[in-house]
Amino acid sequence: MTAHPTLADVVRTLEALYPPSTAEGWDAVGLVTGDPAQPVRKVLFAVDPVATVADEAIEWGADLIVTHHPLFLRPVHSIAATTFKGSLVHRLVRAGIGLYVAHTNADAAPRGVADALADAIGLVDRSPLVPSAPDGAAHLADTGIGRVGRLEDPTTLRAFAERVAAALPATEQGVRVAGDLEATVSTVAVVGGSGDSLFDAVRSAGADVYVTADLRHHPASELRERAEFEGGTAGGPFLVDVAHFASEWPWLHYAAADLTGRLADTGTVDTRVSVRRTDPWTARIGSAHRA
Ligand SMILES: [Zn+2]
Repeated sequence: MTAHPTLADVVRTLEALYPPSTAEGWDAVGLVTGDPAQPVRKVLFAVDPVATVADEAIEWGADLIVTHHPLFLRPVHSIAATTFKGSLVHRLVRAGIGLYVAHTNADAAPRGVADALADAIGLVDRSPLVPSAPDGAAHLADTGIGRVGRLEDPTTLRAFAERVAAALPATEQGVRVAGDLEATVSTVAVVGGSGDSLFDAVRSAGADVYVTADLRHHPASELRERAEFEGGTAGGPFLVDVAHFASEWPWLHYAAADLTGRLADTGTVDTRVSVRRTDPWTARIGSAHRA
């Protein structure tokens, strides 16, 4: 007979990998649905807790979904099936599927979202962009927001952006670049998800290029204006903007492997990384005229 862990065992293991205490104060992480006593045989990993992922979990017979993004970030008065989120909760509970969220705690962790993104694009000698423990607490040395490191071989911004595009899942947005494509880049900062609040840290780290998602016009424009004013057109940091979903997706494989490894003594689970692309953007119409 094969032993399977309980949901409580799985939650304990996930909390060891991604301690809830390292989540941002505004975040909402942890177990959303599920009975701690229920056995867990199959775990599906996905970026977003959305209807298509619930479909996939139900079709596959999953007992648990682990997502990066929270289903509920703010308090709610009702989970009646009259709303899209309430309906999702009903479907999961009816199917006996737990939902567990590891968000900013998974961003910060060793082998978390930022590390997985950094590995996917080949960053070595790296450390957190904003360490969780700036005072140097040893157990948190590898924990913090984003990562900064170097490429094994300096390359052009163009070749680097192409590498990023090849390393991440395909999205309609693709990869947007701000800067001189022929400039040389070596030091790279990455932040999975929306990263335009970290520009000061990126500049302080001396990054030649910053890979993140959801960059808006004004922050991006001002960052490049300042860089060109101070360092000329070849001056960094340059920007590589990827789809939010794509920037966080590489972590799912790490989470699946690390959960399986840590549970080995408790029991076996079958894991799967969702194949549903939950990036909300479904098409891109190229501009008709190029200046
Ligand atoms: Zn995100």
